Amino acid sequence: MKNKVQPYLFWVLLAFLAAGLVYPVIGLIALVCMLAPVAMSFYKGRYWCGNFCPRGSFYDHVLAKWSPQKPIPPFFRSKGLRVFMLALLMTVFSVQMAAAWGDLPAMGAVFIRIILVTTLVGIGLGLLYHQRTWCSFCPMGSLASWVSARKKPLPLMVADSCVSCKLCTKACPLQLAPYTAKGSPDGFTDSDCLKCGRCVDKCPKKSLSF
Ligand code: SF4
Ligand code: SF4
Repeated sequence: MKNKVQPYLFWVLLAFLAAGLVYPVIGLIALVCMLAPVAMSFYKGRYWCGNFCPRGSFYDHVLAKWSPQKPIPPFFRSKGLRVFMLALLMTVFSVQMAAAWGDLPAMGAVFIRIILVTTLVGIGLGLLYHQRTWCSFCPMGSLASWVSARKKPLPLMVADSCVSCKLCTKACPLQLAPYTAKGSPDGFTDSDCLKCGRCVDKCPKKSLSF
Protein backbone atom coordinates (compact mmCIF):
# COMPACT_ATOMS: atom_id res chain seq x y z
CA MET A 1 0.00 0.00 0.00
CA LYS A 2 2.94 2.30 0.71
CA ASN A 3 3.78 4.81 -2.00
CA LYS A 4 7.54 4.36 -2.46
CA VAL A 5 8.04 7.67 -4.30
CA GLN A 6 6.14 10.01 -1.94
CA PRO A 7 8.91 10.15 0.73
CA TYR A 8 11.31 11.66 -1.83
CA LEU A 9 9.01 14.12 -3.61
CA PHE A 10 9.97 16.94 -1.25
CA TRP A 11 13.18 17.24 -3.29
CA VAL A 12 11.00 18.41 -6.20
CA LEU A 13 9.68 21.25 -4.03
CA LEU A 14 13.17 22.26 -2.86
CA ALA A 15 14.61 22.10 -6.40
CA PHE A 16 11.61 23.98 -7.80
CA LEU A 17 11.93 26.84 -5.30
CA ALA A 18 15.74 27.05 -5.60
CA ALA A 19 15.64 27.06 -9.42
CA GLY A 20 12.58 29.31 -9.50
CA LEU A 21 14.26 32.03 -7.43
CA VAL A 22 17.02 32.18 -10.09
CA TYR A 23 14.90 31.44 -13.18
CA PRO A 24 11.34 32.57 -12.30
CA VAL A 25 9.90 31.25 -15.58
CA ILE A 26 10.21 27.76 -14.02
CA GLY A 27 7.36 28.80 -11.72
CA LEU A 28 4.88 28.17 -14.54
CA ILE A 29 5.33 24.42 -13.94
CA ALA A 30 3.39 24.91 -10.70
CA LEU A 31 0.20 25.14 -12.74
CA VAL A 32 0.30 21.32 -12.79
CA CYS A 33 0.34 21.19 -8.98
CA MET A 34 -2.60 23.60 -8.82
CA LEU A 35 -4.81 21.74 -11.29
CA ALA A 36 -3.83 18.09 -10.70
CA PRO A 37 -5.32 17.74 -7.18
CA VAL A 38 -8.69 18.97 -8.43
CA ALA A 39 -8.63 16.95 -11.67
CA MET A 40 -7.75 13.78 -9.76
CA SER A 41 -10.38 14.38 -7.07
CA PHE A 42 -13.23 13.41 -9.42
CA TYR A 43 -12.23 9.77 -9.35
CA LYS A 44 -9.74 9.42 -6.46
CA GLY A 45 -10.58 12.11 -3.89
CA ARG A 46 -7.56 13.86 -2.34
CA TYR A 47 -5.21 11.17 -3.68
CA TRP A 48 -2.85 13.78 -5.12
CA CYS A 49 -2.41 15.43 -1.69
CA GLY A 50 -1.45 12.15 -0.04
CA ASN A 51 0.65 10.62 -2.80
CA PHE A 52 2.05 13.15 -5.27
CA CYS A 53 2.12 16.60 -3.69
CA PRO A 54 5.78 17.61 -3.19
CA ARG A 55 4.81 19.98 -0.38
CA GLY A 56 2.83 17.23 1.35
CA SER A 57 5.97 15.08 1.10
CA PHE A 58 8.00 17.91 2.65
CA TYR A 59 5.59 18.20 5.56
CA ASP A 60 5.40 14.42 6.10
CA HIS A 61 9.09 13.62 5.80
CA VAL A 62 11.01 16.77 6.73
CA LEU A 63 8.84 19.07 8.84
CA ALA A 64 7.43 16.13 10.85
CA LYS A 65 10.84 15.72 12.51
CA TRP A 66 10.43 19.08 14.26
CA SER A 67 6.65 19.23 14.63
CA PRO A 68 5.17 18.72 18.13
CA GLN A 69 2.39 16.71 16.39
CA LYS A 70 -0.38 18.20 18.51
CA PRO A 71 -4.05 17.81 17.51
CA ILE A 72 -4.90 20.09 14.57
CA PRO A 73 -7.24 22.79 16.00
CA PRO A 74 -10.80 22.46 14.54
CA PHE A 75 -10.64 26.10 13.35
CA PHE A 76 -8.18 25.04 10.63
CA ARG A 77 -10.72 22.56 9.25
CA SER A 78 -13.64 25.01 9.34
CA LYS A 79 -15.51 25.77 6.14
CA GLY A 80 -15.31 29.52 6.81
CA LEU A 81 -11.51 29.51 6.86
CA ARG A 82 -11.33 27.25 3.81
CA VAL A 83 -13.63 29.48 1.76
CA PHE A 84 -11.72 32.58 2.92
CA MET A 85 -8.35 31.03 1.99
CA LEU A 86 -9.60 30.03 -1.46
CA ALA A 87 -10.98 33.53 -2.10
CA LEU A 88 -7.74 35.11 -0.83
CA LEU A 89 -5.56 32.89 -3.01
CA MET A 90 -7.66 33.48 -6.11
CA THR A 91 -7.70 37.26 -5.54
CA VAL A 92 -3.93 37.51 -4.96
CA PHE A 93 -3.27 35.19 -7.91
CA SER A 94 -5.58 37.08 -10.30
CA VAL A 95 -4.31 40.55 -9.39
CA GLN A 96 -0.64 39.57 -9.64
CA MET A 97 -1.17 37.54 -12.81
CA ALA A 98 -3.02 40.41 -14.49
CA ALA A 99 -0.08 42.73 -13.72
CA ALA A 100 2.45 40.19 -15.04
CA TRP A 101 0.44 39.04 -18.07
CA GLY A 102 2.52 38.48 -21.22
CA ASP A 103 5.86 38.49 -19.38
CA LEU A 104 6.64 34.78 -18.81
CA PRO A 105 9.32 35.21 -16.09
CA ALA A 106 7.06 37.66 -14.22
CA MET A 107 4.14 35.21 -14.53
CA GLY A 108 6.34 32.38 -13.24
CA ALA A 109 7.44 34.60 -10.35
CA VAL A 110 3.78 34.87 -9.24
CA PHE A 111 3.69 31.10 -8.69
CA ILE A 112 7.08 31.09 -6.94
CA ARG A 113 6.00 33.85 -4.53
CA ILE A 114 2.67 32.21 -3.70
CA ILE A 115 4.22 28.78 -3.16
CA LEU A 116 7.06 30.21 -1.08
CA VAL A 117 4.75 32.22 1.17
CA THR A 118 2.19 29.42 1.63
CA THR A 119 4.96 26.90 2.33
CA LEU A 120 6.39 29.21 5.00
CA VAL A 121 2.92 29.58 6.57
CA GLY A 122 2.64 25.77 6.54
CA ILE A 123 6.07 25.44 8.17
CA GLY A 124 5.07 27.90 10.91
CA LEU A 125 1.85 26.01 11.62
CA GLY A 126 3.71 22.70 11.50
CA LEU A 127 6.16 23.92 14.15
CA LEU A 128 3.26 25.12 16.31
CA TYR A 129 0.77 22.28 15.89
CA HIS A 130 1.15 19.45 13.40
CA GLN A 131 3.11 19.08 10.15
CA ARG A 132 -0.02 18.75 7.98
CA THR A 133 -2.01 21.63 9.54
CA TRP A 134 -1.73 23.59 6.29
CA CYS A 135 -3.34 20.70 4.38
CA SER A 136 -6.52 21.10 6.48
CA PHE A 137 -7.28 24.37 4.68
CA CYS A 138 -4.98 24.39 1.61
CA PRO A 139 -7.11 26.07 -1.10
CA MET A 140 -6.46 23.46 -3.80
CA GLY A 141 -6.88 20.68 -1.24
CA SER A 142 -10.19 22.22 -0.19
CA LEU A 143 -11.40 22.27 -3.80
CA ALA A 144 -10.40 18.60 -4.14
CA SER A 145 -12.17 17.85 -0.85
CA TRP A 146 -15.41 19.50 -1.98
CA VAL A 147 -15.41 17.55 -5.22
CA SER A 148 -14.68 14.38 -3.24
CA ALA A 149 -17.59 15.11 -0.87
CA ARG A 150 -19.98 15.02 -3.83
CA LYS A 151 -18.47 12.09 -5.69
CA LYS A 152 -17.35 9.94 -2.71
CA PRO A 153 -14.74 8.06 -4.77
CA LEU A 154 -12.48 5.30 -3.40
CA PRO A 155 -14.08 4.74 0.03
CA LEU A 156 -12.01 3.18 2.80
CA MET A 157 -13.81 0.04 4.00
CA VAL A 158 -13.66 -0.88 7.68
CA ALA A 159 -14.21 -4.57 8.49
CA ASP A 160 -15.98 -5.87 11.60
CA SER A 161 -12.62 -7.13 12.89
CA CYS A 162 -11.78 -3.52 13.94
CA VAL A 163 -11.20 -3.33 17.71
CA SER A 164 -11.23 0.52 17.92
CA CYS A 165 -7.59 0.71 19.01
CA LYS A 166 -7.33 4.02 17.09
CA LEU A 167 -3.85 3.29 15.74
CA CYS A 168 -5.24 4.30 12.33
CA THR A 169 -5.95 7.82 13.63
CA LYS A 170 -2.45 7.99 15.10
CA ALA A 171 -0.97 7.10 11.71
CA CYS A 172 -3.21 9.44 9.72
CA PRO A 173 -1.51 12.64 8.46
CA LEU A 174 -4.78 14.55 8.89
CA GLN A 175 -5.71 12.84 12.18
CA LEU A 176 -8.89 11.37 10.69
CA ALA A 177 -10.77 8.50 12.34
CA PRO A 178 -11.50 5.68 9.85
CA TYR A 179 -12.57 3.30 12.66
CA THR A 180 -15.73 5.39 13.15
CA ALA A 181 -17.05 3.86 9.91
CA LYS A 182 -16.98 0.30 11.28
CA GLY A 183 -20.12 -1.45 10.12
CA SER A 184 -20.98 1.22 7.56
CA PRO A 185 -21.77 -0.26 4.12
CA ASP A 186 -20.44 2.95 2.52
CA GLY A 187 -17.12 2.76 4.37
CA PHE A 188 -15.17 5.79 5.56
CA THR A 189 -15.99 8.59 3.17
CA ASP A 190 -14.44 11.65 4.85
CA SER A 191 -13.70 13.91 1.90
CA ASP A 192 -10.39 15.00 3.45
CA CYS A 193 -8.98 11.46 3.37
CA LEU A 194 -5.73 11.69 1.39
CA LYS A 195 -5.93 8.02 0.30
CA CYS A 196 -2.36 7.62 1.50
CA GLY A 197 -2.97 4.15 2.93
CA ARG A 198 -0.97 4.70 6.12
CA CYS A 199 -3.90 3.61 8.26
CA VAL A 200 -4.23 0.46 6.13
CA ASP A 201 -0.57 -0.41 6.78
CA LYS A 202 -0.82 0.39 10.49
CA CYS A 203 -4.00 -1.52 11.36
CA PRO A 204 -3.01 -4.56 13.46
CA LYS A 205 -6.25 -6.35 12.57
CA LYS A 206 -6.01 -5.76 8.81
CA SER A 207 -9.49 -4.24 9.04
CA LEU A 208 -8.96 -1.48 6.48
CA SER A 209 -8.95 -1.66 2.70
CA PHE A 210 -9.72 0.55 -0.28
S1 SF4 B 1 -6.13 0.52 13.53
FE1 SF4 B 1 -7.54 -1.03 12.70
S2 SF4 B 1 -8.34 -2.10 14.50
FE2 SF4 B 1 -7.42 -0.19 15.23
S3 SF4 B 1 -9.14 1.27 15.26
FE3 SF4 B 1 -8.13 1.53 13.28
S4 SF4 B 1 -9.28 0.15 11.91
FE4 SF4 B 1 -9.78 -0.47 14.00
S1 SF4 C 1 -7.75 7.93 6.70
FE1 SF4 C 1 -6.04 6.57 6.11
S2 SF4 C 1 -5.83 6.83 3.88
FE2 SF4 C 1 -7.09 8.56 4.65
S3 SF4 C 1 -5.60 10.20 5.03
FE3 SF4 C 1 -5.84 9.09 6.95
S4 SF4 C 1 -4.20 7.54 6.93
FE4 SF4 C 1 -4.42 8.30 4.84
